[in-house]
Amino acid sequence: MNIKFKKLNKTIIKCKKCPRLINFIKKISKQKRKQNINEKYWGKPVTGFGDLKAKLMIIGLAPAAHGGTRTGRAFTGDKSGDFLFKSLHSVKISNQNFSNNINDGLKLNSTYITNILKCVPPGDKPDNNELIRCSNYFIQELDCLKNLNVIVALGKVAFDNCLKIYKKRFGIEKKFIFKHGKKYLLPDKKTLIASYHPSPRNVNTKIITSTMMNRLFKKAKKIAKL
Ligand code: SF4
Repeated sequence: MNIKFKKLNKTIIKCKKCPRLINFIKKISKQKRKQNINEKYWGKPVTGFGDLKAKLMIIGLAPAAHGGTRTGRAFTGDKSGDFLFKSLHSVKISNQNFSNNINDGLKLNSTYITNILKCVPPGDKPDNNELIRCSNYFIQELDCLKNLNVIVALGKVAFDNCLKIYKKRFGIEKKFIFKHGKKYLLPDKKTLIASYHPSPRNVNTKIITSTMMNRLFKKAKKIAKL
């Protein structure tokens, strides 16, 4: 891992800038979920992970309470991650079709996965100040990934907040509509692709299917030249 990323991740893991979120993480890590009652939760902010030469970035809004916050890796150990990694494996973005824990041997092909917000918010609803505070880390990730040319945003909230950060940074006025599979050119020449979130609710109601998700990642790979 390069020095900049090492420093950034160290800072993120130790970050306590949002007391409401840090307290929430502590609470869920102590209470735990029934099926994980004997596990020690990660219980800290969750950094991004993957290939530091990535051409493709996949973003969510925040780590899941009993997924990333428990395992210490984004989209790891929850149902959304299960669905996501089946798709990533089938389109050859990941070396395996599961993401269970940080020692499971997962490798990503020219891809980096992260969340806009590094701490899980109560009810999955961050407040504006928390998003503003954490956006600095997301911007640093973007700046460290020099080969990045495509961002896939999983879910409307991640999509909207990614754009908010870009709008603030580059002063763009253009309106961007969230529609699964729709792509937009960002001011720094990266392509942003909107995707439905692979949440159990979206999967069970077939708002998102494996075919739709695989198709979207194939398209992302092609644009990213991966
Ligand atoms: S959300 Fe971000 S800024 Fe706030 S405490 Fe977590 S890591 Fe720090």
